[in-house]
Amino acid sequence: MPPEVVHQPPAATRPLVDEFRLGLDAPICLTWELTYACNLSCSHCLSSSGRRDPRELSTEECFAVVDELQRLQVFYVNLGGGEPMLRPDFFPIVEYAIDHQVGVKFSTNGTFLDRDAARRLAAMDYLDVQISLDGATAAVNDAVRGAGAHRASLQAMEHLADAGFGAFKVSVVVTRENVDELDDLRALAESFGAQLRVTRLRPSGRGADTWDRLRPTQAQQRQLYAWLLGRDDVLTGDSFFHLSAFGEALPGLNLCGAGRVVFLIDTVGEVYACPFVIHDEFLAGNVRDPGGFTDVWRSSELFASLREPGSEGACTSCGSYDACQGGCMASKFFVGLDLDDPDPECVLGNAEELLDRVGAGVGAHGAPVPRPTADHSRPGVAVPSPVTLRPTRRTRP
Ligand code: SF4
Ligand code: SF4
Repeated sequence: MPPEVVHQPPAATRPLVDEFRLGLDAPICLTWELTYACNLSCSHCLSSSGRRDPRELSTEECFAVVDELQRLQVFYVNLGGGEPMLRPDFFPIVEYAIDHQVGVKFSTNGTFLDRDAARRLAAMDYLDVQISLDGATAAVNDAVRGAGAHRASLQAMEHLADAGFGAFKVSVVVTRENVDELDDLRALAESFGAQLRVTRLRPSGRGADTWDRLRPTQAQQRQLYAWLLGRDDVLTGDSFFHLSAFGEALPGLNLCGAGRVVFLIDTVGEVYACPFVIHDEFLAGNVRDPGGFTDVWRSSELFASLREPGSEGACTSCGSYDACQGGCMASKFFVGLDLDDPDPECVLGNAEELLDRVGAGVGAHGAPVPRPTADHSRPGVAVPSPVTLRPTRRTRP
């Protein structure tokens, strides 16, 4: 039988969202974990950071990656970690990227962002900073990020404001414990001339162990959705599109961009489909391979398969599919659901029965629950154990 010919309308007439679904010639932006070293041990860290990997990309290799980004005309990179400012060559890498027309947005816990660093950052163009903060109060924040983390974040925010940096971002992972503080967090950000950015908690990295305790309840998901509607000044990184199944769609692309518009370069150059799926199953190649990450982006079989129209699976009959698209691939994967199952936080409750079937290390369909490929946690350093202020709806063994 001859291969089926799929007739696509010419690119010029396709809606933008279809362009994204099919995958772009080059990513618009990407996440790049510069190091797994971190002075903190946050309980929900998506990359299980703590220890530096001795194989991490050298300064010269980082420059070569930037050269490729420039050739591909990537708009900007999200530099993260770990704590990226722990790299001794952090500023040279940032400056090299900016000098090569690749904008930089970087995330930091703020510990090393002192007065001098703030002044140096404020003098750069095409740079944005995100300070991580997971609670308006030290009690809520430090229960997740560790003692002293709240003070360090606020101090960094003060330094940026004093240096005249402009509107940096305050980045919050929304949890069961801080969802009631969103107004306070927004006011706090504004008091420094900053903008609030909220993202979704995923069960990735060390988050796999705390997700069930920290994820917002169903009632809180509705509360969050209502809060986000109409607050266009609050950035979301398009990470709450599963909430759009409540009704009116939240602003954004409302699709899983894994391997299509986003991907991750990790600290040793591995290329994954998304920052939240650091697992061999989503490993597309390495920037150290011949052809670099340009080849990975354009020729990886994994990325090609992610760009295919997906099976809607159990979501097929859902009237909200257009809004929610079945939710987040990473969240399904790391809680032991199949990729065509509903999102584990499906707002219509369609994953409840599947989650009830997940047991200790065994997924909803009998396969082992995947664990993150690597754990960089520092041995002997305690991970904060978030206090559960509200009862967990479901306790699994
Ligand atoms: S897997 Fe989840 S976090 Fe990653 S791009 Fe898709 S929706 Fe976003
Ligand atoms: S059933 Fe699937 S498409 Fe419908 S709301 Fe739930 S996750 Fe979204």
